[in-house]
Amino acid sequence: MRITSIDCFVLLDPKMNKSATSSAQDDIVVLIHTDEGITGIGETDVNPWMARACIMAPSTHTMGMSLAEMLIGENPLDIERIWQKLYEGSAMNGRRGVVINAMGAIDIALHDIRGKKLGKPCHELLMDGPKKKFVTPYASLQPETGSFEGYKTSLAAWAKKAKEMGYKAGKAECTLSGPYAHMGLNEPFHRMAEVIEAVRKAVGDDFTLMVDAQYAFPDAKTCLATIKDWKDFNVYFLETPLPSDDLEGYRILSEEQDIPIAAGEWLCTRYEFQHLIELGKIGVVQPDMGRVGGLSEACKVAAMANEKGLTIVPHLWKTGISIAAATHFSAVNPACPFIEFLPSDLCESTLRKELLKEDIKMVNGVIPLPTKPGLGIEIDFDALKSFEKAADAAVKNIRI
Ligand SMILES: [Mg+2]
Repeated sequence: MRITSIDCFVLLDPKMNKSATSSAQDDIVVLIHTDEGITGIGETDVNPWMARACIMAPSTHTMGMSLAEMLIGENPLDIERIWQKLYEGSAMNGRRGVVINAMGAIDIALHDIRGKKLGKPCHELLMDGPKKKFVTPYASLQPETGSFEGYKTSLAAWAKKAKEMGYKAGKAECTLSGPYAHMGLNEPFHRMAEVIEAVRKAVGDDFTLMVDAQYAFPDAKTCLATIKDWKDFNVYFLETPLPSDDLEGYRILSEEQDIPIAAGEWLCTRYEFQHLIELGKIGVVQPDMGRVGGLSEACKVAAMANEKGLTIVPHLWKTGISIAAATHFSAVNPACPFIEFLPSDLCESTLRKELLKEDIKMVNGVIPLPTKPGLGIEIDFDALKSFEKAADAAVKNIRI
């Protein structure tokens, strides 16, 4: 079996709003075709134009090889060796950042091909196979509004709805200030407590509640002073409170208070996670299946987390392609109690709602293990074409 060609589709939600703190508004879908007629599907969570350039750029020298050129003619079942070949061949430009993110989409597509070729769902072929009967999603919630009162009220209402829909857990995106403040929100840190309190009241005590600060706090001291008042909210974890590179700050937070600290959504490869785990001392690791470098690399991060006895809760803010990848990943990882899940009924992204022919189904609050070969998903190509058109139109409107 040989790889014959690669397609990269750059997609955009026609309603994209640049002031929203939401990467569910764009997407790159990578298709890898083979001489046996099997096509693998992958996706990654990064600027799709940048990712496409990383994949399709031609080779210029031995240390700056083209990902696409390195793939053509390869046996797609040889996933580990291909990952290493791409990593080494692109090392001068890659090793971290968008090149690794782009490799993530390629790697997911290769796992899809392998499952389809062998007639098995991906989870049966990962880390010695499934160790669970189902995967539990948590509802990731972020209303699209720029007013504080509107945000708080909508978030509480969405959380209540999520619980009614069967979710056992949910996360309040609490990006009210800082470098990635959502839709112009600009509130003092102490107001985060008002939002969390409203959400906790709406869902009651028998619901697992996470909070995502999206890098809002400038330092550990400010964060500690704010979250000391959150004791009554029973927060399952606090996600990315500090800038990614403040590993000393993460250590202080992890050691000086009781709420588990979660991080890792933007990190690439096992090497970045090694630093985060060893220096940042976090309690919950959050690899994104695409960004980290694909399912292969996510499994390496999981092995590292397992060795340290850490909890794994993958990041996920994309379409059903990433949800499928994270579901297969979680199925083989007992230390992974939840996967992030952007509910199509409780989000604004049409990409999330419409890209696949059929969405991954939640039944009684859990996702039964997929049984179809590969990732077990199918793209709606009419929807894909319309999102591609929206992306093309956005490029035409750029004036630099
Ligand atoms: Mg996050």
